Amino acid sequence: MPIHDLLQASWLPSAEAKPVTGGAKVLDHPRVYGTVALTAAFAAGILVTLGFKDCYPELENRYQRRRNRNLSRSNGDFGVVVPTANRVHRESLIFGPVRLEDHEEVTSNINSSFDWVEGIEGCIGNTPLVHIRSLSEATGCIILAKAELLNGAGGSPKDRVALNMIQDAEERGLLVPGRGDTIYEGTVGSTGISLATLARAKGYKCHICMPNDMAIEKSQLLHHLGATVERVNPAPITSPDHFVNLARRRAREHEAAHGDGSVGFFADQFESTANYTAHVKTTGPEIYRQTGGQLDAFVAGAGTGGTIAGVAKYLKEEKNLWDTRVVLADPQGSGLYNKIRHGVMYSSTEREGTRRRQQVDTIVEGIGINRITENFESGRVLIDDAVRVTDEQACRMARWLVEHDGIFCGSSTAVNCVAAVVTAMKLPKGSRVVTLLCDSGNRHLSKFWKQIGDMGLENDTQAQAEDLFAELGLEELKR
Ligand code: PMP
Repeated sequence: MPIHDLLQASWLPSAEAKPVTGGAKVLDHPRVYGTVALTAAFAAGILVTLGFKDCYPELENRYQRRRNRNLSRSNGDFGVVVPTANRVHRESLIFGPVRLEDHEEVTSNINSSFDWVEGIEGCIGNTPLVHIRSLSEATGCIILAKAELLNGAGGSPKDRVALNMIQDAEERGLLVPGRGDTIYEGTVGSTGISLATLARAKGYKCHICMPNDMAIEKSQLLHHLGATVERVNPAPITSPDHFVNLARRRAREHEAAHGDGSVGFFADQFESTANYTAHVKTTGPEIYRQTGGQLDAFVAGAGTGGTIAGVAKYLKEEKNLWDTRVVLADPQGSGLYNKIRHGVMYSSTEREGTRRRQQVDTIVEGIGINRITENFESGRVLIDDAVRVTDEQACRMARWLVEHDGIFCGSSTAVNCVAAVVTAMKLPKGSRVVTLLCDSGNRHLSKFWKQIGDMGLENDTQAQAEDLFAELGLEELKR
């Protein structure tokens, strides 16, 4: 019998439904009549409840969305959801106070508190310390890497430096937001990308001078970030057209060229102490906290030298970790290795007439240099040792990290990891070695990763190499 009829039968008995004797229809019998009516009411109740339960979460969702929109408008924020405490119970005219049971639990987990950072600069720092399993297994030590590629502005440790240089300049009144001021810098890429990102966020323009032999994706990225980019031919640092000297000159020319009251600020990452102090203030303390101060070695390459100097200063001078070895990871062609090992700045590839490219003769970008900068010098005496890494070792390490750990890194990271392995093998088993994942392989597709492909390291037999030391040509280090 259709529900409609049942309901009618129970609630609106008609004259024909009166009980009669003999030959009576089922509905005419009073007990049967009552049972059917009760069953019908019960069934109807279940159906209504089920229907309400189905559409209730959607109604609740809509209500919350509308309420949050109104609230966030009146708070002037960007749609941050109000804390759940305000919406656990809600009065309903029909049902009284409504408890948002399982459905409420889901939404409250997502939006249980205000948790935001202030702008893109809030995404800088506090990067994870990653255990690299394959390197630890191979060396018998604990190899950890600070994932600096996760810094959220420009995706490298230079985010910390760019932010500190801008804040330092603002404090000294050298930069004023919204005045049309321009930040000028000479960089091989990473610092420029961090500066360009933060410049926009903080109300400045950015002008980058870089060597034209760096991976093209870096200057494309700078362009998309709204920076003016000048790619220049390789020149010695003594030349006025070296990319760093050009950036300094452009900053000096700014006022005359613009005449609108805005100024040009030369960030000067190689010589500015706001570079290494960024690492004294943030990277060093983070590493100390993440390891509980238990680290036997810190390994890093040097471009400006800001990272290795800043971290070394914090760990040794401020935390008295004088037993922690600080080791420079240096690519082929750089003079720093000899400076640390032998006290003289010399690389055979730098002999007069033999230099092929801008800074150092290597495919590696971001680290390796043939002059002593203020930043490197400020921590030089704290560096205990240096490891020289060839381009081939760097390429093989990068490929190894993808294959064994799923880590897709740039060239300076690969150099760091080779040097971390060499350092670990000179320490007792179980020692802790910390290095850096500087930037992602995405920035190095057209050069470094192309070279890796050209070397055949991505074809099947090569990709499955299982002996790290044989891969790196370091069999003599095996325990
Ligand atoms: N890795 C990359 C990718 C870099 O760009 C740089 C900086 N040029 C470094 C490492 C080295 O950092 P620092 O300048 O602090 O020595």
